[in-house]
Amino acid sequence: MALRFYNTLSRSLQEFEPLNPGRAGVYACGPTVYRPPHIGNFRTFVFNDLLHRYLEFKGHDVRFVMNLTDVEDKIIAGAAQQKTDIGSVTAPMIDAFMADLSTVGVLPADSYPRATDHIDDMVGLIERLVERKHAYVADGSVYFAIGSLPDYGKLSRIELEDVKAGAGLATRARAVDADEYGKEDARDFALWKAARPEDLEVKAVWSTPWGDGRPGWHIECSAMSMVELGETFDIHTGGEDLIFPHHEDEIAQSEAATGKPFARYWLHVKHLLVNGEKMSKSKQNDFTIDQLIEKGYSGAAIRYLLLSAHYRKELNFTFDGLEQGRESVRRLLNFAERVESATIGPEAGGLAELAEQARAGFEAAFDDDLNTSAALAVVFDFVRETNAKLDAVTSISEAESTALRSTLDAFDRVLGVLTLARKHAIGDDQEFTAWVDQKIAERQAARARRDFAAADRIRVELTEKSVILEDTPAGPRWKRA
Ligand code: AMP
Ligand code: ZN
Repeated sequence: MALRFYNTLSRSLQEFEPLNPGRAGVYACGPTVYRPPHIGNFRTFVFNDLLHRYLEFKGHDVRFVMNLTDVEDKIIAGAAQQKTDIGSVTAPMIDAFMADLSTVGVLPADSYPRATDHIDDMVGLIERLVERKHAYVADGSVYFAIGSLPDYGKLSRIELEDVKAGAGLATRARAVDADEYGKEDARDFALWKAARPEDLEVKAVWSTPWGDGRPGWHIECSAMSMVELGETFDIHTGGEDLIFPHHEDEIAQSEAATGKPFARYWLHVKHLLVNGEKMSKSKQNDFTIDQLIEKGYSGAAIRYLLLSAHYRKELNFTFDGLEQGRESVRRLLNFAERVESATIGPEAGGLAELAEQARAGFEAAFDDDLNTSAALAVVFDFVRETNAKLDAVTSISEAESTALRSTLDAFDRVLGVLTLARKHAIGDDQEFTAWVDQKIAERQAARARRDFAAADRIRVELTEKSVILEDTPAGPRWKRA
């Protein structure tokens, strides 16, 4: 079966045909690292992860790149307010972000380029644009001349006639900085911004042929994506808010500089709502991963909720939804444990077929523009039907066990929920989980020194706390009774 995506560029479902057969290059716009990202950002990051995993599942050799925007006007403002430099603001945010990614089970990217490491590439790209008369220097800043590119607007389908100076969407959507007075046309956007005194104070100034300054946000992604993946690459993703102007401007800059097509497929994630509203600081509904963990939810439950709706459909975050996510993870975990501990003997019949059908249904759902809600329906039908069969038999055959496990494994390679739940336990209580882990480690140590009496005492202690311990070839595992 062929994988199809909805490509924002063509506004249609298109079969994915990579530039180089068997390979896939993906660039995801990463966070602006001045505050911890909220769960809305993580809807997008978890989607990126599903894309990454599913491309691998389909056999592609994936190069997955996510940038870190570590110089940008919001970061500069934050550093100025804290009377420090931008590096001191971004370093702890990057560490915290990496920890959050791991909490919700996102696979590591192949590369996390940082804007401040690629200033030379940005300057080089801007020089090419100036040379090709797609950009001009004014008062130490450099602007992209939108009028020089006939197909500007092809991603967002913005009408340029409607955006004459001051009147239209392009101008309104674009934060026109007070220091952008040198522009020839209000629609033009900054590639490079002349240094202000505050930039110097926070160490956000670099030297260029046209003077000291800092890069515009859009040029950062053009430069980093082309360095990492080539001038033309397969897939570019981000939240829907980035279509205009960020991605539109990335396309303009890149294609004007190279004369070649830039990214071929553009995938955009619909914004997460919270209790039916937009996320915002003033409404205090912009939860971070940490805040949800503090409330006792696990990374697996958060991940489950964020991936439960198709990425182009509305998803409304509620605590009820999160409870349901927790419950779904629990069901999945119990089911996996039931399958793994099933008695091997005479075959039950029909289980291998169920496993095969479920796997095929799951793949068909993902092939269809990564339809996670359809895929989860397949997963839980499989759980229900298999449970019903298991209720009626006393054993399953070795082949049936293998078939069931391999289907569960296929699901989890893409969804990543089971592995994550096992890693962190279906944590209601982090302290309790840590205590159990500690006891298990002590028991392992006792066994290693052949002190079986001590090991048994620990097992009894765990049993008293309703912890069921199971020794597997992969080491001890536990669950609650
Ligand atoms: P930022 O750090 O603001 O640049 O955002 C990082 C990523 O999160 C971008 O791809 C945004 O489009 C995306 N994003 C921002 N808000 C939301 C939201 N409410 N739901 C989903 N994605 C979002
Ligand atoms: Zn970007």
